[in-house]
Amino acid sequence: MPKIQLLPERVINIIAAGEVVERPASVVKELVENALDAEARQIFITVGNGGRDLITVLDNGAGMDEEDVRHAAQRHATSKLRDEQGLEAIGSLGFRGEALASIAAVSRFELISCNDESASAVRIALEGGREQSVGKAGFPRGTKVTVEDLFFNTPARRKFLRSTSTEFQHIQTFVTQVALAHPRVHFRLTHNRKVVSNLTPSEFLGERAYQLFGEEFAEGMVAVAAAEGTVGFDGLVSSPSYSKSSRRWQYLFINGRPIRNVGVNHGIYQAYRTLLMKDRHPAYVLNLRIDPREVDVNVHPAKSEVRLRNPQLVHTVVADKLHKALLDSSRRRAFAGGQADRPSAARRPMPDAAPADGQVELALTDAQPAGPSTAGFLPMPRAQELWSASATYPAVSDSPSGAAAVRDSEVPASSALLDNPFQGEGFHFQPLSGRVDAALIPGAVPDTSWSSAVLGQLHRTYLLVQRKEQLVIVDQHAAHERILFEQFRKQFYESGLVTERYLLPLTLELSAQNALLLEQYLPQWNKMGFEIEPFGKSSYLVRQVPALLSGKDVKQLILEVLDELALFGQSGKLEEVINEILERVACHGAIRAGMHLSQEEMEALVAQLEQLDINLYCPHGRPVWVEFSLRELEKRFKRIV
Ligand code: ADP
Ligand code: MG
Repeated sequence: MPKIQLLPERVINIIAAGEVVERPASVVKELVENALDAEARQIFITVGNGGRDLITVLDNGAGMDEEDVRHAAQRHATSKLRDEQGLEAIGSLGFRGEALASIAAVSRFELISCNDESASAVRIALEGGREQSVGKAGFPRGTKVTVEDLFFNTPARRKFLRSTSTEFQHIQTFVTQVALAHPRVHFRLTHNRKVVSNLTPSEFLGERAYQLFGEEFAEGMVAVAAAEGTVGFDGLVSSPSYSKSSRRWQYLFINGRPIRNVGVNHGIYQAYRTLLMKDRHPAYVLNLRIDPREVDVNVHPAKSEVRLRNPQLVHTVVADKLHKALLDSSRRRAFAGGQADRPSAARRPMPDAAPADGQVELALTDAQPAGPSTAGFLPMPRAQELWSASATYPAVSDSPSGAAAVRDSEVPASSALLDNPFQGEGFHFQPLSGRVDAALIPGAVPDTSWSSAVLGQLHRTYLLVQRKEQLVIVDQHAAHERILFEQFRKQFYESGLVTERYLLPLTLELSAQNALLLEQYLPQWNKMGFEIEPFGKSSYLVRQVPALLSGKDVKQLILEVLDELALFGQSGKLEEVINEILERVACHGAIRAGMHLSQEEMEALVAQLEQLDINLYCPHGRPVWVEFSLRELEKRFKRIV
C-alpha cells in the first residue's frame, strides 16, 4: 500500500489551475474582473498569438501596496472575503482568492502595482508558481499583470489549445460581454500589436451597443427597466420587429456578471409571447439586479454559473415586467409619432453595474414603482386571474358550427395567404367576423389622430394614413388579425370557457414527480376547465378539457406544462397553445389582402387599431404598419439636406 501524502502547494495550484484556467480567455476574464473589482475606469488588454504567448491587463484601479502584492498570487489570498458570513452576499466579481495563484502556477507571471498610499510601485515575478523576484518599480496608481507562455509547464493543457484565431475569438467574446456589462469603463483590446477594439467610456448602454454592434443593432433595441421587491432589471432588448434568426445576440448578466441561465432565458422568451415571429429570437443585453443575498455565486470555480434562491420570482418578474415594458414601448412608438423613443434607448444613463454593500440599487430613471409582489407559487397567475370558472363560452362564435370550424381549421400559415394577395373571397368563416363593418365594431369612434386622414387603399392591401408628421402604411390583413386576436383573447379570458367531455377519458401515466406536481396544482387545472382524477398509483383520467383544446394532443400538452412547472415553477405553455389557436382563428377571420375596403371600413379599422395596446405587430410578429416621417420624405425630395 502506498502511503498517503499531502501534495506540495505548487501541485495543488496546478490542479486548481485546471479548473480556473481553461484557456487564454479565462486568464483575461480573471484579470479583467480583478481590475473591475478594483474600480478601474480604464482596462487595456494586450494579447500576443491568441494569448498563448502573451496576455497583459493594465488598469487604473485602486492598486495594491507591497504587502498585498506579495500575497496576491498566493492561494486562497483575497481582500474580498473575510469569513463564511461573507459568502452569503458576494458583491464583488471575485472572492475565491485563487485566480492569480492558479494563473501564476501555469505561466511566467509578473504583477506590478501601486496604490495611493505607497511611495513606489512593487513588482513581483513568478515562474510556474515559484517566486523569482520582488522589488520596486516605476508605475502609476493601478495594476499591470503580464502572463507569458501560458501552460509552458503543463504540456498536456497546452496541446489542447486551439488555433490562434479561435483562442482570440474566445477572448473577444469575453471582452464584448464585459464591455456591455460596464459601459462606463474604457476597454481597449490589442492583438499582435493591432488595436482590435477601443471602447471609449459611455454613460449609455445604447452607445456601447452601438460601438460594438453598429447602428442598425442599436436602433433596433428599446431600453427597459423595472423592479419588484428584491429583483430588478435594466438594459436593452430588441423591439419585436428587430428579431434575430439565432440566439447569438443574447447577453445576460446578474449583478454585472455574465451568466447563462435557462430559467431567466425562458422568462425572456415568455415576455415576447405573441410579439415574435416563429423561429425568431430576441436580441438582448439585460442586467438583472438581484439582492446578492439571493444569489449563490459559489457554484463553479470559473463563476460562470449562479444559483438563485428564488428562481420563480426572478422568472415571473422578467416574464411579466419585460412583457409590459415591450408593450409600453410599442405603444409609445405608436402614439408618440414613431421614432420618438428611439434616441432614449441610447440616452439612458447606466446605473452602476455592481450593487455595493448587499443593497440592490434600483433608483433607475424609469423604474416602475415596486408593486405588491405577485410572485409566486401559483403556477399560472395569468390564466388563473383571468379565467372564470363560468361554464359559458360565448367567445369566438356562439354557433356550434363556429366551434367546429375552430376545431377543424388546419390553416395554412398566414404568409401563404399573403403570397396570393388577390384571392379575395376566401371567407369560409363568416361567423368569425369576416368583414370589418364599421357599425359592428364596438368603440370604433373615429379618432382624430389617425383615422381622420385615411387617404385610401393601395393595391387593395395597404391603407395609406396621413398623420401630423408621418405617412403611415397599414397592412390591412395584419392589422385586422391583431384586432381580432385581441378581441377573441379578451372574450375568451373574460367570459370563461366551455368545456368538452371526452366519451372515453384519456389515461395519463405519470412519473412520481409529475404525479406530485399534478396533484399540487389540481385546483388550478380544474379552474381552467380540466377534470382530472386519480386512477390508481400515479395514473390519472382526464375526463374533460377546455373546448378550445379539443382535437389537440392534450396528453402532450399536460406533460409539457408539468415539465415547465418542474423547471420554472410556472408554465406559460397552456396560454401559448391557446394563443396559437386564437391566432389561427384571427387569421382566418381577418380581411385578406386583395379585398376592397370602403372609406368607412378603412377608418373603422384604423380607429380600432389605434385603441389597442399592441398594434405594431400581428400575432405572428409581422409588422402591422410602417411609417415614413415627413422629414424622410423631405430629404428624399431634397427639400432639406
Ligand atoms: P479574488 O479576486 O478572488 O480575490 P485573485 O487571486 O483574483 O482572487 O486576486 C487576489 C487579490 O489580489 C484580490 O483579492 C485583490 O485584493 C488583489 N488584486 C488582484 N488583482 C488586482 C488589481 N488589478 N487591482 C487591485 N487589486 C488586485
Ligand atoms: Mg479575482
